[in-house]
Amino acid sequence: MASGAVALVTGAGRGIGRAIALRLARDGYNVALNDIRRDNGLENVRREIRGMGREVIECIADVSKESQVKGMVDSAVKELGGLDVMVANAGICVAKPFMKSTLKEWDQSFDVNGKGVFLCYKYAAERMIEQGRGGRIIGACSQAGKQGADVLTIYCATKFVVRSLTQTTALKPHNITINAYAPGIVDTAMLSKLKEDLKSFVSTPILDALDTGTPEQIAALVSYLASKEAQFVTGEPEPTFSFELK
Ligand code: ADP
Repeated sequence: MASGAVALVTGAGRGIGRAIALRLARDGYNVALNDIRRDNGLENVRREIRGMGREVIECIADVSKESQVKGMVDSAVKELGGLDVMVANAGICVAKPFMKSTLKEWDQSFDVNGKGVFLCYKYAAERMIEQGRGGRIIGACSQAGKQGADVLTIYCATKFVVRSLTQTTALKPHNITINAYAPGIVDTAMLSKLKEDLKSFVSTPILDALDTGTPEQIAALVSYLASKEAQFVTGEPEPTFSFELK
């Protein structure tokens, strides 16, 4: 990693995005932190990163809005001097079976998890190609993007999109790699909400019987995918953390 390299992490206020932002800062990156809300932990993450001696900015933006994604990428480039790593992490999860799922939930989920990742990949790639110094684009897939789960109909569909988008976005001539991480069950606020949402659909507490991973384990994978060692890893939705029943 060149000194002064810049990473932009979406959904960085909490959970996996927070852990990724902190890890990349520890790895030496200056970091642009995105979230849709300012009051969602972003300020604390910013303070921690500043304490590590890195440059850090906040970019409040909704990743499902094209002009906001473009603005966020422009700010990172302008204020931090470029863009070397884009982590399209922000996402939402609707935990419902097919017949309970609504069109509104479908649209909202695809806006953030599908369109949001597409826009982040696209505007990051555009800037990285312009810069001509290569780059790393990393997206949030999931085990739900590899295997259907009948209580996660819409969520699975959105993550299948991230998986195929990542596999089909080849930018090898530009020395830009595009990969995605595919976690199983990770201990974040999203998991707490998912357990709550599923209570009315799942009679046994199946989720309590699952072994959970930590956001820091996912951040370690992202750190690798962003590194020089991962230069020849691209189009991979397979780097995986699969969690087994205890
Ligand atoms: P995870 O388990 O993936 O970490 P969380 O729900 O804990 O899930 O975190 C997801 C993060 O993504 C939150 O900080 C949330 O505010 C953010 N987020 C959700 N939707 C958007 C969006 N449209 N634009 C930017 N950030 C978003």
